[in-house]
Amino acid sequence: MIRVEHLSKHFGPVAVLTDVNAHIRQGEVISIIGPSGTGKSTFLRCLNLLDQPSSGRILIDGQDILAAGVKVAQLRQRMGMVFQSFNLFPHLTALGNLCIGPVQLRGHSRAQAAARGLELLKMVGLAEKAHSLPHELSGGQKQRVAIARCLSMEPEIILFDEPTSALDPTMVGEVLAVIRRLARDGMTLAIVTHEMDFARQVSSRVFYMDQGIIYEEGPPQQIFEAPQQQRTRDFIRRVRCLEFRLKERDFDLYALFGQLDQFCEKHLLPKASALRLQLLTEEVLEWLKQQAGVFDVALTVAFHEQDALLELRLDCAGPPGNPLEQADSQDDIGLALIRNLCRQIDWQRQGERNLLSLQLDSRAP
Ligand code: ADP
Ligand code: MG
Repeated sequence: MIRVEHLSKHFGPVAVLTDVNAHIRQGEVISIIGPSGTGKSTFLRCLNLLDQPSSGRILIDGQDILAAGVKVAQLRQRMGMVFQSFNLFPHLTALGNLCIGPVQLRGHSRAQAAARGLELLKMVGLAEKAHSLPHELSGGQKQRVAIARCLSMEPEIILFDEPTSALDPTMVGEVLAVIRRLARDGMTLAIVTHEMDFARQVSSRVFYMDQGIIYEEGPPQQIFEAPQQQRTRDFIRRVRCLEFRLKERDFDLYALFGQLDQFCEKHLLPKASALRLQLLTEEVLEWLKQQAGVFDVALTVAFHEQDALLELRLDCAGPPGNPLEQADSQDDIGLALIRNLCRQIDWQRQGERNLLSLQLDSRAP
């Protein structure tokens, strides 16, 4: 039904989407997850041309909607969109909100539109609120009216952008229940959401977005239980990461310490853990600096909240072998210190690089 090829979107010099490729079949329910700021909203907005893509192709039933002469208004009628902030017309009743589109854009009669509108309000459980104004409705009710309004235009697919994130927690359930019903009725849906349990239950496929692309996609069992990529795993397991790339032996250690401190503070880690992390980072980098060859280290600090674990990941260039087990160094004090600080150290070879994982208890001893 929809095929997206090499879609990119820049805002001035900032590339938000770099190369998005996807297809969505009729009747599928796609959940789109990922850290904030990774372009999930931008992707939805590009799909229905609320944002103009910078390059790439979007084909709907084989027709390229970015081609010249495509009628954007017609296209939007095929794709409904539900926003976080409802976007109802404040001066119109619930029913009025549902009638305006069919009357003005589709040429339906008022009576026809009102009859269908009432049916739809009934479907989302709000028949008795037909004559209420938006300000007389709760957030959950407003969002259900917004969904009904979307349906009044008989779209072929509905795009949801975090439909429950502006809601009081007590109202999330009623909105998710309506979306679940649409899914069961066979409506094609693409839903950006942070509700992981919901995404797992309702979707046929999940897109994990990161780094300007669909970083990993798959059935919910794969994405939630056995993600293939490190970033997906970190996101699903709520691992918070801070990344550095060090390419000079005389990098600015104190600036790095400052960022480590901030990271630890942000995640409410005890001061003692922050200091041990600093010490470990310094010792390991010192150790790597002494080794011959190019110095090129990608350093990631990962905080695994669920396991109360701080992990230092080092991805370094160099000959095969655990850099911490180079022969000439068995008696080194730094190394002893590193071993002492960690509860576990793992090494693996990946391509031309060595990956080290050093793990610390995130609670103070
Ligand atoms: P997400 O929905 O995944 O949180 P968004 O698609 O909203 O991410 O935004 C991705 C990035 O694009 C953000 O860094 C945001 O600041 C930027 N961005 C979004 N819309 C605009 C815009 N109209 N102008 C400039 N930058 C934008
Ligand atoms: Mg967003």
